Amino acid sequence: MPAMPCCFSFFRCRFPDDLDERGTFQISLQRRAGQALGIMAAYCPDYDGLVIEGLTEESDTAIAQWNQEHPEAELLAGLAIMEVNGRRKGEEIMAELRPGRAETLEMRVTQNLTPVQWTILREAKRKKRCLKRAEEVERLLELLVVGGDRDAPDECCSICLDKLHGSVIVRLPCGHHFHKICTAKWFASGTCQKCPLCNQKMSISAAS
Ligand SMILES: [Zn+2]
Ligand SMILES: [Zn+2]
Repeated sequence: MPAMPCCFSFFRCRFPDDLDERGTFQISLQRRAGQALGIMAAYCPDYDGLVIEGLTEESDTAIAQWNQEHPEAELLAGLAIMEVNGRRKGEEIMAELRPGRAETLEMRVTQNLTPVQWTILREAKRKKRCLKRAEEVERLLELLVVGGDRDAPDECCSICLDKLHGSVIVRLPCGHHFHKICTAKWFASGTCQKCPLCNQKMSISAAS
């Protein structure tokens, strides 16, 4: 019989033999001294377990190695690590996973996330998106900086109402000038990036 197609690539396609009825399995992960684990995880300090947000891209990590050798029990994004060496709270597990701690990691992993764990995973993704956006804004502002006082018009920044002279300033595509720091705050506070004076919308990708 041909293998069933996997409906949700997010979920596991193959299951370890000892998967119990709660979707939990046990693994014993070995790592060399100083070897990176290779995991991105999200957790709440006082809540049990941590959620695997993703794996890092390096191939030499303990988890990359584990996944290669144990395709039937891979550690993947969307699973939750419920226990490591007897520790259960998120922050205790994180401490146990730190490089330089235990070389043997006895883990209990589950594919059945609790509602709180789903929320933790969703929030972690949202934060990552916000951070990416903020980095884009930062790069954009770098491109809009105009050189020195010579280029600064003898005006005030209409965000903070202080003189433009004497600070790093940016010129938006509409031609309006503001302090760079004020523009950064302004852009960061809104869901889209518009000139505070004329409302012209900035296209982040167009400027990069
Ligand atoms: Zn200002
Ligand atoms: Zn403008």
